[in-house]
Amino acid sequence: MKRVLVASLQHESNSFNPIIAGKNDFHVTRGAEIFNKFKENDPVTGIIKPLLAQGYEVIPTVFVGGVPNGEVDYNFYMDIKNEIIEMAKKANAEKPLDAITLALHGSMRIKGFGEAEGYLLEELRELFPNIPLFSSLDMHTTMTERMHNNCDGFVGYKCAPHTDRYETGVHAARMTIAALENGFHPYSAWVKVPILIAGEQSSTTVEPMKGLTEECRRTEKEDGIVAASYLMGFPWADNEDSSCAVYVVADSQEKADREAVRLAQLMWSKKDEFCFQTETYHEQEAIDVAFKAVANGDPLPIYLSDSGDNPTAGSSSDCTGFLKLLMEDKRTDSLKTPVLYGGIYDPEATKACKGKVGQEITLTFGAKFDTVTTQPITATGTVKAYIENWKRSSIPCDLALFHSCGVDIVLAQAHVGYMTPDIFSDLGREAKDADIVVCKLGYLTEQQSAIAKRSIMALSKGSTNEDLKTLPYTKVPRPIFPLDEQFPYCAEENLIAKKGN
Ligand SMILES: [Zn+2]
Repeated sequence: MKRVLVASLQHESNSFNPIIAGKNDFHVTRGAEIFNKFKENDPVTGIIKPLLAQGYEVIPTVFVGGVPNGEVDYNFYMDIKNEIIEMAKKANAEKPLDAITLALHGSMRIKGFGEAEGYLLEELRELFPNIPLFSSLDMHTTMTERMHNNCDGFVGYKCAPHTDRYETGVHAARMTIAALENGFHPYSAWVKVPILIAGEQSSTTVEPMKGLTEECRRTEKEDGIVAASYLMGFPWADNEDSSCAVYVVADSQEKADREAVRLAQLMWSKKDEFCFQTETYHEQEAIDVAFKAVANGDPLPIYLSDSGDNPTAGSSSDCTGFLKLLMEDKRTDSLKTPVLYGGIYDPEATKACKGKVGQEITLTFGAKFDTVTTQPITATGTVKAYIENWKRSSIPCDLALFHSCGVDIVLAQAHVGYMTPDIFSDLGREAKDADIVVCKLGYLTEQQSAIAKRSIMALSKGSTNEDLKTLPYTKVPRPIFPLDEQFPYCAEENLIAKKGN
């Protein structure tokens, strides 16, 4: 029975967010426990199931994930990496491993150290130079030389929002099976495309990513092409690897290079077409447009995204600028229902609401982590609800609903994302019955979108500020679009050869 080692690191690290993500910000699954945690739309499940179906023994190690956040704590990362390495050595000593298949994100960065995935791959490659090593990736991967040099092949998600995580895991498992069963020898090609692009401009449901992704799928049907991925990078990380890229796996170097160069040149030719897909305005204008729609009797609820402080893209989720504008706006009182606002990450302020449901209190909240962008708010209001140990979040935490100045504000003890409206219903408010719902998101998730009658993105301030030209980059390689506008690009010159090939 062939033995395949599996592990997963899932994190997108925002270098503009001052939070250092540590133990309390991650959920960690170890060993065989993963077999009881199969999920829909999950790359680890996508990897494990086909390997088991093939009759392989799957050796589970460590599976780590967390909501995107600031860069990751060095000691936490080293402990996890060493644990995976030690488990791999031990398993191999019992009976030699035949392959390794990982589910990596590809934009996890360690504070003061650098890339997370590259160093893990490098150590695994050193220990196991001759067995197939494949990995699935997020679409927002920042490819690095260390990753490229130490893996036989990657495949990235093709859908944004990422509805194809499971399929991508299956794809990585299939590459492993092909290498073990059919003697498939993988050749990979990586071409940098010097573009920084916010996720909100690269939804694959609209052009230009829709067409680009279809081209990847078409390419994968060609003889000898095993995987073709656009890796979009992560713009809120200031590092020397930041860039978009194309990555192709094929049965010959010539085919991999040819297709990667072609897809890269195609992407470059579309660079001016990337734009916001939702209605987008600066903060105050976004609020004005929403109130006007309510006054007109338009269908409700209207959703506003506080996009500059989006925890699902790694912002601190404690910037108060957009909330303050809403609380100070006289029009909030004219609404049928309080504005529903999700939310502020503030452990102390959340805890201060505990045991005070129905009471009026004065609370200071926000700007505890990102102390530069905005200031804390002090307000008197009523605690409307409190939940202890809310379990829908990957990290169980307390939540409070604090009502002040016409706004129902979700306060969270942990760095949670506002992906689903459950967070509101659990606190006693239904998003569908609200006039205006505000979420710290960029484009709306499918679940929020299903409720929204209109979706408006507000260009607010925070460490996911969508106006990339205003960010204080110092390390990204230049020239890069859109920070630099006019410069030549030749995909072939950006084909980066793999060392050791
Ligand atoms: Zn992503």
